[in-house]
Amino acid sequence: MSVTKRTSKNVLLDTALKNFYGAAEEMGLEDGLVEILSRPERAISVSLPVAMDDGSIRVFEGYRVQHSTALGPAKGGFRYHPDVDLEECEALGSLMTWKCSLAGIPYGGGKGGVSCDPLELSTSERERLTRTFAARIAPIVGEWTDIPAPDVNTGAAEMIWFMDTISKMHGKLEPGIVTGKPISIWGSKGRTAATGVGVATCIKELLETEKADVKGARLIIQGFGNVGTYAAKTMDEFGAKIVGISDVTGGYYAPDGIDVKKAFDHVTNHPKKMLEGYSQPGMTKVSGEEILLVDADVLAPCALEGAVNAKNAGSIKARYIVEGANGPVTPEADAILEPKGVIVVPDFLANSGGVIGSYFEWVQNLNGYFWTEEEYNNRLIPIMTDNFYRVWNYSKEHDVKMRRAAFLVAIKRVADAVKMRGTFL
Ligand code: GLU
Repeated sequence: MSVTKRTSKNVLLDTALKNFYGAAEEMGLEDGLVEILSRPERAISVSLPVAMDDGSIRVFEGYRVQHSTALGPAKGGFRYHPDVDLEECEALGSLMTWKCSLAGIPYGGGKGGVSCDPLELSTSERERLTRTFAARIAPIVGEWTDIPAPDVNTGAAEMIWFMDTISKMHGKLEPGIVTGKPISIWGSKGRTAATGVGVATCIKELLETEKADVKGARLIIQGFGNVGTYAAKTMDEFGAKIVGISDVTGGYYAPDGIDVKKAFDHVTNHPKKMLEGYSQPGMTKVSGEEILLVDADVLAPCALEGAVNAKNAGSIKARYIVEGANGPVTPEADAILEPKGVIVVPDFLANSGGVIGSYFEWVQNLNGYFWTEEEYNNRLIPIMTDNFYRVWNYSKEHDVKMRRAAFLVAIKRVADAVKMRGTFL
């Protein structure tokens, strides 16, 4: 390969680029395609003036990056977090391209966000911020161009504000412009749980193919937000034992099993949707870091990037890691885990249930016809299972790690599309 490889000071982007170049080299991808796919098609920054409740004005920074539209409209969420910047959105946008490609759905990849601390914002401030963000990126989003969705700290409320703002600007309802909407307003039954159900499907298939019992398997779920809660609930229904859960308030360890239903109800009723104050018999409160290291078969990091890193990877006891979050295992951690024989199911396979669910919602929106939750899950679970085995089998046949296998499969489909469509735009 004779291209000049891009690097970045942003760890997530640097990792995304390294993973891409490594796989591209291994598959002998031609230089022109490497150049095209190592850059986003479009990246914009927007400033967002928001009238705060106290009458002052604050200006937030927002971003939207469309990494690729070769396979279809850019697809990917937008997040609210203090660490959001353009490079993080670029990295996460490229991950969406590979995720949608691997999932076999007709989308490219994108990501957006606003640098803010949502815990400091009132509901009406979040609404004004979301509507301003929607208006500022309106020229580049659309149901056939770029379709946002929930991500870290955004959910159904933000999505409906987003849809409403764009619909009012355009003078007509545009439900397919965003996914993850409330069920009562053009959302889809099953979408909220989809990412967690998909993570659980990967955990179950992994254990079964490894001839390990799902019933009684011990799990740590790091992050008890949308992904973690539904992954925990689904694994609990499969008979697994969730020994540890955590969120920003720390770790909750119960060697005999967390009462998942009780923890779920606690979070649902907590004003900030947190585990803070949760307790049950036989439970010990530990730190968010300690919970990753307790004895378990499977660790599912479902919070933010970089959770499993060079500092803690050597002490992790779990034999399997299933990445519910985007980028939770750093490349340094990957290198430590591999010789220990730890199998890592990569993020853009493990958490693809969310965007597959978004695709279902969009299809229903375009048709104006809604499916039952059963129809939804009956379609989601076989797709997740097939995708899991496609990557698993590829990794066995070619003797590569699952992450590399997933990249090789995903890049090929996008590269073929770019080639077939040509390079006029
Ligand atoms: N934010 C989710 C992800 O990272 C969902 C994206 C979507 O549904 O478009 O996969």
